[in-house]
Amino acid sequence: MSENEKGLALHWKILIGMVAGVAVGFALKGVDGSAEFTKNWIYPIGKIFVNLLKLIAVPLIIASLTKGIADLQDISKLSKIGGRTIGIYLLTTVLAVTLGLVVVNVLQPGVGLSQETIDAISASNLKSSSGKIEAGTAQAQVGPLKFLVDMVPENIFAAASDNGNMLQVIVFVLFFGVCLLLIQKEKAKPLHDFFDSLNEVILKMVDVIMLISPYAVFALLCNLTVSTDPEIFGVLFKYALCVVLGLLLMVAVYMTAIKVFTGRSPIGFLKAISPAQLLAFSTSSSAATLPVTMERVEEHIGVEKEVTSFVCPIGATINMDGTSLYQAVAAVFICQVIGFELTLADQLTIVITATMASIGSAAVPGAGMVMLVIVLDTLGIPSDKLAFGIALIFAVDRPLDMCRTVINVTGDATVATLVGKSVGKLREPQIKNWDDHYHKEEA
Ligand code: ASP
Repeated sequence: MSENEKGLALHWKILIGMVAGVAVGFALKGVDGSAEFTKNWIYPIGKIFVNLLKLIAVPLIIASLTKGIADLQDISKLSKIGGRTIGIYLLTTVLAVTLGLVVVNVLQPGVGLSQETIDAISASNLKSSSGKIEAGTAQAQVGPLKFLVDMVPENIFAAASDNGNMLQVIVFVLFFGVCLLLIQKEKAKPLHDFFDSLNEVILKMVDVIMLISPYAVFALLCNLTVSTDPEIFGVLFKYALCVVLGLLLMVAVYMTAIKVFTGRSPIGFLKAISPAQLLAFSTSSSAATLPVTMERVEEHIGVEKEVTSFVCPIGATINMDGTSLYQAVAAVFICQVIGFELTLADQLTIVITATMASIGSAAVPGAGMVMLVIVLDTLGIPSDKLAFGIALIFAVDRPLDMCRTVINVTGDATVATLVGKSVGKLREPQIKNWDDHYHKEEA
């Protein structure tokens, strides 16, 4: 294959698709019927792409996690990886909330907004945000151990038929994989080989789906740009800036951790996972991005399958550093706007509730805002003020969701790399860049 035929690396193609999507979206804005046209004729390509990624998420978890556990050959290794994974996930989430709190308390974005502006924004969004509040209030009313009960499926087919039940599928597969390790080797071999082969096929499906990713992100971002009102950003600029600044600081934390604990180049790390980050940004869903995150972590960073297949799916469901940071900033911002004084104990409550709420947030667009209701509720904010606060930040939620999802995915990849290193399962990557991928495939 000649240089020219090889073309640009995938992350560049995706980036070009994103920029072109926003540019065309702006060009179409204001043209009569453009929103309708984009929704009917451009957006479907993006939707098909997201559906395809979601389509393979459950089979991918089943195949790769079963194979990953079977490859471990020893249950004590699994508990070692499990313990480190949960420990580091919790640590990064608490760190993210703390960073968010520092930024929002120092910059105080909610102080000094004029009452007129606040009233105008929240009045126009009160109705559209009410669904989030209802969903959040319903969540807040469940018992403390409900999350544990919810993790155990009563029917694996029902669990596997709903992408929102990823954690249930993981629990089943963990149980299944451990029992596969417990039976005689020769009896386990046919299943081991079957899942090995299934896993290869699904990873190939990820590669094929990724071929349309530049066009898909074009479609997703074009549609989003046409349907978003840019004026609102001006008013909530300081708040949005706090979230983005906090998220950037979190990237610095990840890069430092990669350098210090693995000795790898942080830039090389970011390059390796960039297609997953760009997809996270375009889809606002860590669940939809999961197949690409796993492929990148395993093949482009070099974390072995045993670790990747365990750490990444669990991370996509419970580790949301970007979401928890956003929840902390949003909660304090709303309190600043409504004049609700927060004590040090309240701020500590935010650390705990935002950590728990991000664990409970689904890996889909807008989920973080639903769980924010719980954080606000725990602080004792009266329900009318709570509705007002959610309505206030509703308009800028989607762009911030895009940014926090990038951090959620980056956090999962970072922790997978750190866990991989700590248990001796980090090797040189098989593939250094996307083009090599095809060389290897063709060889
Ligand atoms: N969209 C986020 C994710 O999928 C969750 C959220 O913060 O709303 O990771």
